[in-house]
Amino acid sequence: MCLARGRLPSAGKTLKHPFHNAEFVTTAANWHQLPGGDAPEVAFAGRSNAGKSSAINALTQRARLAYVSRTPGRTQHINFFRAPSGALLADLPGYGYAAVPEKIRRHWEAFVARYLSQRAPLVGLVLLMDARHAFTELDRQLLSWFLPSGRPVRILLTKADKLGTIAQRDTLRDAQRTLARDFAAGWIELQLFSATKRIGLAEAEAALSAWIAPPPQGDGAEKERPRHQGE
Ligand code: GDP
Repeated sequence: MCLARGRLPSAGKTLKHPFHNAEFVTTAANWHQLPGGDAPEVAFAGRSNAGKSSAINALTQRARLAYVSRTPGRTQHINFFRAPSGALLADLPGYGYAAVPEKIRRHWEAFVARYLSQRAPLVGLVLLMDARHAFTELDRQLLSWFLPSGRPVRILLTKADKLGTIAQRDTLRDAQRTLARDFAAGWIELQLFSATKRIGLAEAEAALSAWIAPPPQGDGAEKERPRHQGE
């Protein structure tokens, strides 16, 4: 599909299901393999086992999309999926595996840190955290790489179906407090999420739609999307 610079076919409109029917496009193990073009890109990150693949599959309505490219040796790659609108979803390698050799961990760190801080088409980061184990050291490190870009983060507190109503409420409140205490300067929103019970799915889709929607024509397009220095 050929897109004019920064414009999607649905100019000015948001989509109810921004990533339905996305398809795998490519995989990147280093900066030079990242796809070209400047279609808006949303990154998904999280500790391994946080529920990232399940969330991507729920958002794309593709039963096993996030697993297809997860062949052995590829777990340190960023996998890219393109939605029919042209927007890209970037599936970052899960982090926190105890068994990952030091050399691979360092490569991952350098690549992901650069990707999150410098990738021009990135419009936002979806950070997945198991609702019962939120804000680990590695989650905080990831936020520290991304937040200086001035772009928004949406935290999905995953597997919320494992919590009762009161525990859900308390989890959300505690996470909000952590944000206010430790990340007051960041542009971060959070919500409960469950891929299996579809809790928070529509809420997440609405937020991501707003990120990838082009600004209404003639309405300060550049203001809507913060740019990196030197872009
Ligand atoms: P990833 O490593 O972050 O991609 O995590 P996966 O999506 O592979 O999920 C890890 C495990 O958590 C799997 O056993 C999933 O079935 C389970 N899981 C993922 N999402 C949910 C959810 O919303 N609810 C429940 N109960 N389990 C989930």
